[in-house]
Amino acid sequence: MICDGCGKDFDLTTKQRNGTLFGVPIYCQAECAVGATQRMQWEVDPITYPETDLAEPHDAWDFLTKTFYRSKYEVAVARVFYCLGIPFVYEKLALAYKNNRTYTPDFYSAGVFVEVKGLWAGSGKSKFKYSYEAGVPLVLFPGYLQPSFERLAKEIMRKEGYNEVHGGPE
Ligand SMILES: [Zn+2]
Repeated sequence: MICDGCGKDFDLTTKQRNGTLFGVPIYCQAECAVGATQRMQWEVDPITYPETDLAEPHDAWDFLTKTFYRSKYEVAVARVFYCLGIPFVYEKLALAYKNNRTYTPDFYSAGVFVEVKGLWAGSGKSKFKYSYEAGVPLVLFPGYLQPSFERLAKEIMRKEGYNEVHGGPE
């Protein structure tokens, strides 16, 4: 596989490849995925999307961004954005989907949506593709990048002086 961020050749197992989507850019590591998101942010003209209220309880609490997320993977992504000063909202904005339904990608940041996908379930793939093919600025962080995001979050938090136990700068 060729990284759409840095152009490097990298390997994915068949299982990891199942988490990707044909025709959607892939990245060798978290840094490349974040870099691609930022490049897209410079290119898009942000438009206004309707707010949604999912009101669904999540149980992965993050002390740093003071939000509940669905998964540890999402926590890692939120921490990376936060520490890099990339503004974001979580599960706030809805995209139109078929039959008057909506699709709420995980993150929205400066004109760009980010879908963080550990495992595809239900109509997830179909919703992503629908918006992606309609030209919505939408980046996919597939499941295989989770360890990379967790590693990057740890590195940046250490650098910034955030302590996992005490929850603040030391
Ligand atoms: Zn790369």
